[in-house]
Amino acid sequence: MDKIVALCKRRGFIFQSSEIYGGLNGFWDYGPLGVELKRNVKEAWWRDMITNHDEFSTPPGAPSAFSMVGLDCSLIMHPQVWKCSGHYDLFHDMMSDCRETKRRFRFDQIRGRWVHVEKDARGIHRYFIMTDADTPEAGLEDTVVKACKFFDVRRKDAEAALTWQSPGLVGITPKDNLAHVVTPGATQPGTMTEPREFNLMFKTTIGALGGAEDAAFLRPETAQGMFVNFKNVLDTQRVRVPFGIAQMGKSFRNEITPRNFTFRSREFEQMEMEFFCHPDQSRAWYQYWRDRRYQWYLSHGLGSDRLRLRDHAADELSHYSVGTADVEYAFPFCEPGEFGELEGVAHRGDFDLRSHMEGKLVRDASGCLAVETGADGKPRHPGSGKDLVYFDDQSRERYVPHVIEPAAGADRATLAFLCESYHEDAQPDEKGALQPRVVLKLHPRLSPIKVAVLPLVKKDGMPELGLELYRNFKRAGIPSYFDQQAAIGKRYRRQDEIGTPWCITVDGQSLQDQTVTLRDRDSLEQVRMPVNRVIDEIAARLRG
Ligand code: ATP
Repeated sequence: MDKIVALCKRRGFIFQSSEIYGGLNGFWDYGPLGVELKRNVKEAWWRDMITNHDEFSTPPGAPSAFSMVGLDCSLIMHPQVWKCSGHYDLFHDMMSDCRETKRRFRFDQIRGRWVHVEKDARGIHRYFIMTDADTPEAGLEDTVVKACKFFDVRRKDAEAALTWQSPGLVGITPKDNLAHVVTPGATQPGTMTEPREFNLMFKTTIGALGGAEDAAFLRPETAQGMFVNFKNVLDTQRVRVPFGIAQMGKSFRNEITPRNFTFRSREFEQMEMEFFCHPDQSRAWYQYWRDRRYQWYLSHGLGSDRLRLRDHAADELSHYSVGTADVEYAFPFCEPGEFGELEGVAHRGDFDLRSHMEGKLVRDASGCLAVETGADGKPRHPGSGKDLVYFDDQSRERYVPHVIEPAAGADRATLAFLCESYHEDAQPDEKGALQPRVVLKLHPRLSPIKVAVLPLVKKDGMPELGLELYRNFKRAGIPSYFDQQAAIGKRYRRQDEIGTPWCITVDGQSLQDQTVTLRDRDSLEQVRMPVNRVIDEIAARLRG
């Protein structure tokens, strides 16, 4: 991971935000190459969802043909949106602070991870393992391994202590035993505060006077824009259920512990789609989108052994969801066997449209969703009161559509593509000596630059011919780069490192017979072809 972060900085993919002032934790800037890479990721998603979508044919595996439209909503929405969506009451994490080091931790990240080490009278180490009250026996071994790694304690020593403690491990529930926990960097145990709630929404105020009633929030997800515009889209577009509304754009979450490079940031971009369908067909649509979204990552170059589709267990589901699956990737910073979420595909039932009609919903005693009421019997967070029921003019049926939501992160996808494509090898230079090479084997459609034009030497008309070719690529809308500095091998390596799939070399022969060589980044194969065919060739390969 360190090498990837270093490459991102060295070659201008990703910089820390406000770096000259010491940086701002959880915020990132995309440099000249990074902005192109992320744009290409978003463009690939938009093309798949909207531009290339054919509403008159049924895609393989889909229950029927369907329509897709796009949207671009404001970042700040009416505060009632977040009250009805549940974010105002429920979008929080538990956090604990260390009084000594002043560090702050997300409680679910520390639970089960840390131990208090002490020596008994015989000089034997004892390990108190902080676990969840209901951590299964099988999960404890994993906890021991993580804890030993964290404290740099040999597993062998822990074994001795555990045997001594037999018959089993000491499972300590967090609430009563924070006093025994040593946080990293602290000298004393017991410096952790009790876990408390922390809402992740960024608060702001609207207008100059800015009283409490003017409080608003930066959106923590793009999804709500699609729900509150459901009727607008229906009334203005010629769409019928089933159809989807897609949006990509910035979201903000005041994450307690931003970490792992851009993986967990406080400002990030999402690519979300809300798919509205008939309740009877919703399970089939859920299955369709779950599989299709997984395939999208595979087809853009994420290796299947590091990518997985994981169905949530029943107790992991949100209170409204009847099914959720995550597309996950084994990032280099993940522990062995662990994965990081790239995208969640959720069956959300009619929760969202009903909440925006009737008011915030909660499960009642019988397990049904009902409007939450206050002590006065009125809705605690009233909905818009607008009719968001769909009327099917062919079947004459009225119903609240069910929603399937594939919610992806553009930054996490970009990071996964960077990690997957990073390779190191060695290639011979002009004199035959092996030179180390870093190469980003990005899918050509994602590469920031598609083709580099390289005159072999800076004389004899080669730069002129090269420049003309470079300009013709630009005119054809193919991002290209012209480089005539340094030995040709070095120039190839410069392009390999940023993932340019093809290099074109203009040499002495080019001036005589109007041919150039086309070099492939991955196979290293070089083919000669007429200069007037090379643009069509690259365009065809990009389409391929
Ligand atoms: P996590 O459990 O990792 O916090 P989440 O389940 O809360 O993620 P969702 O609310 O489902 O995430 O958001 C959809 C997608 O948005 C995620 O799959 C991820 O790709 C992206 N995303 C969410 N939070 C962040 C973040 N803090 N930084 C970068 N991307 C994020």
